[in-house]
Amino acid sequence: MNRRSFAATLMAGPAIGAAAWAGWRFVQARSAASCWACTRPVHDHMRTVAEVNGHSAEYCCPACALSEHRQSGSPVKVTVLTDYLTITAIQPARAFIVQASDVNPCKSHAAPAVASDKQPLRSGFDRCSPSMLAFRDEASARSFASAHGGTVVAFNSVAAEYAA
Ligand SMILES: [Zn+2]
Ligand SMILES: [Zn+2]
Repeated sequence: MNRRSFAATLMAGPAIGAAAWAGWRFVQARSAASCWACTRPVHDHMRTVAEVNGHSAEYCCPACALSEHRQSGSPVKVTVLTDYLTITAIQPARAFIVQASDVNPCKSHAAPAVASDKQPLRSGFDRCSPSMLAFRDEASARSFASAHGGTVVAFNSVAAEYAA
């Protein structure tokens, strides 16, 4: 486990975000992708980009990217989130997350029978749950949560939870 450096990495978010920004158009131009970790389709309004072991990968949602950290123990550096409502890229350091609302688009796709590391999935576990949706500001996150339930938190504090 390298949790301390994971936390440090998150604190460096703005600089990393700026670097990721440069690659955004290139990444966006690629054809519709499936999630690096779970192979579910990447929905445009939940697209999450993170670096793991120096490799930049696309995830179906922030919950899936953070599950990757818990499973692999490798630092997962989220570089790009997507505003759920406007489908625009946002920097993680500024994003707010609605956690565990009643909306989880990933779960409309069956989880694969085997994880990408070939280990059988434990029954009852879903790497995309509880759902995490990203928003560009606290106000839009709160108005979403008032309609769909869930808890509003700054992305940085959620990520710290997984790094603690
Ligand atoms: Zn996924
Ligand atoms: Zn997902």
